[in-house]
This record gives sequence, structure tokens and C-alpha cells, in this order.
Amino acid sequence: MSEPVVIIGAGPAGLSCANELSACGQRIVLIDDNINAGGQYFRQLPGSYHVTPDAKLLRDKQRFDELAKVLAKPSVHYLPSTTVWGTPSPMTIAYAGRTGSGRIKAGGIVIATGAQDRSLPFTGWTLPGVMSAGGCLNLAKAHGLVPSGRVVVAGNGPLVLVAAATMIAAGANVVRVVEAQSDFRLASAALAGLLAAPKILGIGIGYRKRIWTSGARFQTGFMVAEAKGVYDVTSVGIAPVGFDGKPDRSRLEWIDAETLVTGYGLMPGTEAAKVFGCRMEYDAGLNGVVPSRDASLRTSETGIYAIGDGAGIGGVEVAILEGRIAAHAILGSSAPSELSAGYRKLDAYRRKLNLAYRMPTALRAATDETIICRCEELSLGQILADPNRGRGSLNALKISSRLGMGRCQGRNCLHTASALMDLAPDAIETHPRMRPPIKPIPVGLMAADADVGPALEPDEFNPWNSKEEQ
Ligand SMILES: Cc1cc2nc3c(=O)[nH]c(=O)nc-3n(C[C@H](O)[C@H](O)[C@H](O)COP(=O)(O)OP(=O)(O)OC[C@H]3O[C@@H](n4cnc5c(N)ncnc54)[C@H](O)[C@@H]3O)c2cc1C
Repeated sequence: MSEPVVIIGAGPAGLSCANELSACGQRIVLIDDNINAGGQYFRQLPGSYHVTPDAKLLRDKQRFDELAKVLAKPSVHYLPSTTVWGTPSPMTIAYAGRTGSGRIKAGGIVIATGAQDRSLPFTGWTLPGVMSAGGCLNLAKAHGLVPSGRVVVAGNGPLVLVAAATMIAAGANVVRVVEAQSDFRLASAALAGLLAAPKILGIGIGYRKRIWTSGARFQTGFMVAEAKGVYDVTSVGIAPVGFDGKPDRSRLEWIDAETLVTGYGLMPGTEAAKVFGCRMEYDAGLNGVVPSRDASLRTSETGIYAIGDGAGIGGVEVAILEGRIAAHAILGSSAPSELSAGYRKLDAYRRKLNLAYRMPTALRAATDETIICRCEELSLGQILADPNRGRGSLNALKISSRLGMGRCQGRNCLHTASALMDLAPDAIETHPRMRPPIKPIPVGLMAADADVGPALEPDEFNPWNSKEEQ
């Protein structure tokens, strides 16, 4: 293929895809909105930082260095600090960032945009000191920042263990770890792991052991009911999860804490797939939508592939395998049988794991006064009282209430609202349509883009000339 393949996202999935493609000499444009490559899992500390937490405990540097060698290859044009914000015409991406703005016509597009934290609003969730598990891990990995004081980690899903164990390794004083799922369902997840992915199960057991030996108490079947504090959080109320998914306030327990880390799951970042027009489908384990894909990870749109956490939450190992499988499909070669077999096994396991962690009833800790849409400052009471709520569609609700119309474009509130409204799967599938820019970018760069003219044809977009001349 003479045209470059554009990979959006330089996390484990994007880097692995770039490695496989570049090994066959394929030209690639790899675009990522972070300063450094690595995505969430391999997030790196800037070279100039010297911090106390032991770097080796927080990130897998050796494995990242191996994957990141691809960035220096002549066939790879890497654009860091750059956001893909839209698709002005078929197989064309519009980008803007530190490296400038423009459009590229691609021979193939790989969406490897990763996931984001799913929030669970409760009274006090906007207080300073309350943060998401993903955000907390990012602060530790990319800035060497670890919460001080007593820390409570609460949520639902594997990231609870990851966040708690990583914080302990980094020196935080984690006093309580609270998982909403019941012991019985967690045991079934562990059993599935024993058969399908013993290595991953071993990592999970290692995390549990680290929590256990630190002296932090690990509790299942409990959730956050409330956080209290005047200027920032000072105490956290936890309670058993009731049959209706609400905290059983008759058994509320208050824990003194300066930091509350909440991890109520991850949601695939599907904005790019939606804006490229890819068909979406409902995923029961996530109670959300993912792009429809065939066995070679091709979406419904010709030439467009979706891989990694942006296509379904599977973790780093699934992301790396998916990058390789998509690369083989793009190159028109069949993936080695051990790669396909290994992927099928791990993919089946991640689906079981997501289902095992899914709560029988969606968790609800918000009261009528709790803000759900932070950008538009909409409370649960306002959403529930909206005349369009009864129509069972987020699109209708968005039009009348402005839910999801702010800066985050619904990334943070729409999943929450659909769970609180008990929307049916087909209503979730028709989540409000995504409009560019899919992520915030400076207006000046968009204005500059108005002057860039049509997308550069493959022979016009040739950053490789200068590399080849060197
Ligand atoms: C906040 C967060 C923290 C996490 N921390 C951990 C952890 O510590 N340990 C662990 O085991 N798992 C962690 N996970 C899970 C982890 O994301 C995955 O297992 C793994 O990193 C998935 O790889 P990926 O390549 O699919 O996505 P990611 O690693 O998320 O990489 C996607 C990349 O694409 C970029 N991107 C997205 N949209 C655009 C766009 N429009 N334009 C340009 N670039 C874009 C993102 O900024 C990111 O760099 C975390 C997840 C999240 C959401």
C-alpha cells in the first residue's frame, strides 16, 4: 500500500500495530494527543523528572522501550501532542496540535483511542480530594504524584485492584479498598481466569496480596454512598450495595480520609469511531456501545479498523494482540495461527471478566441534588423532571436539557445518565451523534485549518522525504 496508514493513538494497541506494519515497510502516521507515547498503561514520566516512587513499580519501562523503538523507524511519522478531531471527507483525518494542523488522506485508518473512566456521581463527588482511579494512576505515572493522608479506594472492576496496589507500591497510605461486586461473582471471574489467562489471574492475585500485606482492609459488596468535607474531602461514607443498586444507608460507615479514589469501570472512547460513521453495537458486559468489528477487527467502514480499549475494555494484553491482528489484515497477510488462537482465548476471557464484574442492577448513589452533567451543571432531579425524559432517548433529553452539550461533549455524563434512566440497549445504541471536534482543540488551530485547503494526497503528504535525505 503506497498511502500511509494513519493510526490514532500511541498506546499499547497503536504501538503494537505500528510495529507489525513497519516490519513490512508500511508507511505509517502515528498520531497521539499526549506529550509522550505509551497511552494509559505505559504512561511515562518526562525524562527531566526525578521522583521518589520507584519507577519500576509503577510502569513496565522495559516492555514500553521495546514497543517504542518503532517511533524511530524511517517508515513511521509520529505526531505527538496532536489530536485527531474530525473527518472532513472519506478516509481523511483532520488533526491539530503542537506539530501544526492539517488533513491527511489515508490508505487505512486504525482507531486505537483507548478508554476513559466511568464516573459514579454521589453527594460530594466533586469535592477536591475525590479523584478517578485512572486519573490517580496517571498522576502517579506521569507526574510522580501520590496522594497524601489516608486514602480510600472504592469502585467496581479490575482497576480497583490496580489502583489500590499501585498507590500502595508508590507509598500511599491506603486504609480501605471497597469493591461493589459480591465475593461469589468475583470467584467465578477468578475461575474463568484460571482456565483462560492464568498469567493475568496471577497478576490480580499479586495485587490482592500487596493490599493484604499493607494492612489495608479489602471489602466486597460495598459502595461509596457519600463524601463529606468543607473545602476538601475529610470523610467517606460507605454502605452495602442494596438490591436496587443503591447504598443501604441504614448500615452507613464513615471512614476518615483525605483522598477518595473511585473506579467504577472504564468505557471505550468511541468518539472517533462514531465520527467516522462506524456502526456501533451494544455490549452487555459494558452496558454501553462499541464499534462492530469482524474477525480481522475491521469496522463497518471499509479500510477502518478499531483496536484496543477503544473497541471494548480488554486491558493491555488484548490491546497488544489486537494491534498485531489488525496489522496483518491491513497488509493482506493472514495472522499466524498461534496469534489468532491466543487472541480468541484472551478475548473470550475479557468478555467473561466484564460480565462477572457487571452488577446485577446499575449502581446508584446520586440523590436528586447531585450534579450529573458537570459542564452544564445539571442535577439528577433536573434530568428526571425533564419533559423529554419519558421518551427513553438520550437524544431527546439532550435537546431539551442540554445534557452532554458542554466541553466534554457527553464523554463523562452520558453513560451515567443512561444507567440512571435505565435505558434499553437499543436506546443506548443510538446515543447522541458525535460531532467534530471530537476532543477540545484550540479554536485558533481550527481557524488555521480552514485555510489548509483540501487534504494532502498521499504523494503530497510526504514527511519521509526529509528523513530519507538524512
Ligand atoms: C485513565 C486510565 C488509566 C489507566 N491506567 C492503567 C494502569 O495503570 N494499569 C493498567 O493495567 N491499566 C490501566 N488502564 C487500562 C489501560 O488503558 C489499558 O489496558 C491499555 O492501556 C489499553 O491500551 P490502548 O492502546 O487500547 O489504549 P490507551 O493506552 O488508552 O491509548 C490510547 C491513546 O490514544 C490517545 N487518543 C485518544 N483519542 C485521541 C485522538 N482523538 N487524537 C489523538 N490521540 C488520541 C490517548 O490519549 C492515548 O494516548 C487505564 C485506563 C485509563 C482510561
